[in-house]
Amino acid sequence: MEAAELVIVGCGPAGATAAREAARAGLHAVVLEKDSIVGAKRVCAAGLRPGFCAEFDLPREIVHYDTPRLALFDIHGNEHALLFGPGHTTTREELDGTIARLAQREGAEIRTQSLFRELRPDGDGAIVEYADARDGARKYITARNVFLAQGATAVLDRTPLAYDRWRDGLMTTLQYRVYLDTPAATIAYQTLEMHYYLGLEGRQIVGWMFPKRDHLAIGLGVIGKMEGAKLRAELDAFTQRVRERLYRDVRIRRVKVEGHLLYMGEPRPVLAAGVAMVGGTAAGLVDATNGEGIYEAASSGRFAAESVLAHRNEPHRAASRYQRAVKERFVRRLQRRVKLMRFLERRPERFGLLFEQLSSTPRLPEILHGEKYGRTLRDRVFLSVQMTRFLLRAAR
Ligand SMILES: Cc1cc2nc3c(=O)[nH]c(=O)nc-3n(C[C@H](O)[C@H](O)[C@H](O)COP(=O)(O)OP(=O)(O)OC[C@H]3O[C@@H](n4cnc5c(N)ncnc54)[C@H](O)[C@@H]3O)c2cc1C
Repeated sequence: MEAAELVIVGCGPAGATAAREAARAGLHAVVLEKDSIVGAKRVCAAGLRPGFCAEFDLPREIVHYDTPRLALFDIHGNEHALLFGPGHTTTREELDGTIARLAQREGAEIRTQSLFRELRPDGDGAIVEYADARDGARKYITARNVFLAQGATAVLDRTPLAYDRWRDGLMTTLQYRVYLDTPAATIAYQTLEMHYYLGLEGRQIVGWMFPKRDHLAIGLGVIGKMEGAKLRAELDAFTQRVRERLYRDVRIRRVKVEGHLLYMGEPRPVLAAGVAMVGGTAAGLVDATNGEGIYEAASSGRFAAESVLAHRNEPHRAASRYQRAVKERFVRRLQRRVKLMRFLERRPERFGLLFEQLSSTPRLPEILHGEKYGRTLRDRVFLSVQMTRFLLRAAR
């Protein structure tokens, strides 16, 4: 049977980064990706945090706009602007496609049209079964370690990685790519917009407008399910409001509709079992306050590659090391983000209070945005004072 040191399932930012970094260090890595073109079907607003390209050694050409403004809109539609970064926008075709190409250049093998089916323990490693859509055959690879990175739709129910609250965290999203005949207002191309409001049926909605080279990505999400026609009505109403502000008199050439699930709950409690590791959105590594998951996904891919390299002949130790690294770096922060989001949703007026404080205290978003290990004692004191201030205001 064919053998590989690391089999990776899914070629999103998590899987592709793992493949690139593992192959660069000389590991034999094979990626199984169900789509025929990497990234072509990904539905995403594709906003990247400041410094993303430098941190993951990616070419600047994938960046469409540097966005120095983050505009947070509260439930009354009031705008609270923060200057940061700048953040960046791209598309997933370019981001995932680029990381995958770079991974191949390092020697990783990326097999498209390969649908992962099953993982079985086998001695010190595992056997991975997949369906090859090109010839319809079932194929098998023995792997020393496996990195599962199938995104929000990952089915891990009957594995030791199952998490019974997974469905509670799933969010239904719908997005329009709006192609305009002439550009929208200049400010649209300098801003990442996030909107938090109550929808037509009183449900909490998170909406966004992110500018791209040839279109505006305007979308929204709602926790749980929503009937297709209602979701479409929500998005139409939201898009109309964005249009009034940013491109009222511009002719629309074309609108592309796309939808997908996003996970916005707590991370899975178990991130490694046997020789298998789970990463990216499949592990629940998404910030529940804003849907950011690309950075977490790519970072988890990096941790997976580093762990396998550190224990090249001890796959169980590699998986345990991976779990420790991801927990230390992300899990507590993401759990806190879920709590914060649920706290805000219980009384949606709180969104406005928080945004007001963030925009009038520039040091606050700056510290929050940085990673925990980079914070000084002064930063931590400042943060707890600000947090107490917010809680006192929110409790009134
Ligand atoms: C509408 C929307 C907007 C978003 N906007 C942003 C944003 O602006 N910024 C941000 O940081 N994050 C955003 N996110 C979140 C972001 O998309 C995810 O966090 C990120 O894609 C996670 O990467 P991943 O590699 O874990 O999984 P994915 O990117 O989902 O990749 C999973 C890959 O696995 C493949 N796959 C799935 N099942 C199988 C199988 N059985 N066999 C083989 N291959 C399989 C898929 O085809 C896919 O290529 C958004 C998400 C949505 C839905």
